[in-house]
This record gives sequence, C-alpha cells and structure tokens, in this order.
Amino acid sequence: MADRKLIMAGNWKMHKTSAETRSFVRELKTAIQDGTVPCEIIVAPPFTSISAATEEARGTAIRVSGQNLHWEDKGAFTGEISGEMLREAGCSHVIIGHSERRQYFGETDETVNLRLKAAMRAGLIPIFCLGETLEEREQGRTFSIVKGQLLKGMRDIALEESTGFVIAYEPVWAIGTGQTATPEQAQEVHAFLREELVTGYGSPVANQLRILYGGSVKPDNAASLMSQKDIDGGLVGGASLKVGDFVGIIKHGI
Ligand code: PEP
Repeated sequence: MADRKLIMAGNWKMHKTSAETRSFVRELKTAIQDGTVPCEIIVAPPFTSISAATEEARGTAIRVSGQNLHWEDKGAFTGEISGEMLREAGCSHVIIGHSERRQYFGETDETVNLRLKAAMRAGLIPIFCLGETLEEREQGRTFSIVKGQLLKGMRDIALEESTGFVIAYEPVWAIGTGQTATPEQAQEVHAFLREELVTGYGSPVANQLRILYGGSVKPDNAASLMSQKDIDGGLVGGASLKVGDFVGIIKHGI
C-alpha cells in the first residue's frame, strides 16, 4: 500500500473576515510549531479572506484553498472567480462539488467536471467532494450514487501518480448534523471509491490518491476515522472554525 500522508482541510464556508482569518492562522501557526504535526494542513477561507490567509501562512506548512471556482478562465460571469485568480491569491487547492454547492447553487456532475478541469488547468489541486443523501443511503443506493458522481465528475480527466488530486467522501447526512459516519461505514465507501479509481486509473495512481472523509469530524472521533486503511484525512467544516478543535483533529491523539 502506498504511504499516503494525511491531509486535514478546514472548510470555513461563509465564516471569517480577513481580520478573523489573520488571527486564526497566527494562532494555528503557534499551535503546530512543535513539529509533531503528522499531516498536510489546508484552510479554505471565503474568497475575500484568502489573501490574509496566504500572507499569514507564508513560510509555514499551512496551505490555502478556494471553496469554488468557475470553469471558464475569464469572461462575463458576474460574481464568479477563476482558477488563475485563486492561484495568484496564493491558493494551492480548491474545493469542488461540495454538497452545499450542489444543493443550493445548482451544481451538477457536469459542472463539477468542468470545474475540476479548470482547476487542473490553473495548476490547482482539486478537492473533489461527493457523497450520498440520507434518502439515497436508506434506499441502499450509496455505492451507485457515489460511483455515478465519481465517473461523471472525472470524465475525460487524466491522472498521473504526481497529479496530487484529492477526493472527499462527504455523506450529505453527516455534514453539519453531528451525525458522523462510523469508521466502518466510511471505510467501506472509501475502499469502494479506491477500487473504482484502480479500474479507471490503475493501482499506482489510485493508491497514492488521498481520499478524505468529511461529515462532523471532531477531535474525539478523528483518531478512529483516520485509523481506517483508506481514509487519508478529513475535510472539516464546523470544527475547523476554532483553532483548538482544528488542532485537536490535526494531532488526533498525538
Ligand atoms: C463540510 O462542510 O465539508 C463538513 C464536513 O462540515 P462539518 O464538518 O461541519 O460536518
């Protein structure tokens, strides 16, 4: 099995002004200074706070992600932002296809696919989110749903071992609800996704690709989730907003 370094990514959604971002990143830097951090750390602030985050994070192990981008490189798309703009602002990653974008902003597997391609064109590492709703799980459709999202989202996308593409399995019923998937439930889907990736891209690529789990990750459940074979980190919403909680997740018991 490939040696995959864990990633802990904080999705701040529509939280934190620039000033709040600065003080968060300063505190986070101090908290991880002791060098015991076993993972890559990413924060995803709102667009207007990205510069504050990248300035404060400069020279540290903290990376900055956008929360979305448009699939065109430029043009008359009021309210949108391009991959190049995120890169220039200092982002290394971008979250794509989050369930809130799918639920509230009409995101589809097809637009996710376009955005993934745009991110890669711009040299950003996508954090591609997918996951089933409660209804879909209860109907026994979890695997077919995530397979469909994976295959449609990644249509015509070539991956190599060095690409650094990230997938986040986020069961919609676990996001912001306090209801976490059990480590076994999550592992089952992660293993399934990895098998699909082996089929599509071959073992060397699939085995180095990180698959994060997202959905009510907290300091007290992070260790058991991260101990699963195919869980390579967390995409964390609510618990990434407080430095103490986020550091608890990053260090998960260390
Ligand atoms: C998320 O929004 O990606 C998420 C996982 O949120 P939470 O951790 O709050 O469930």
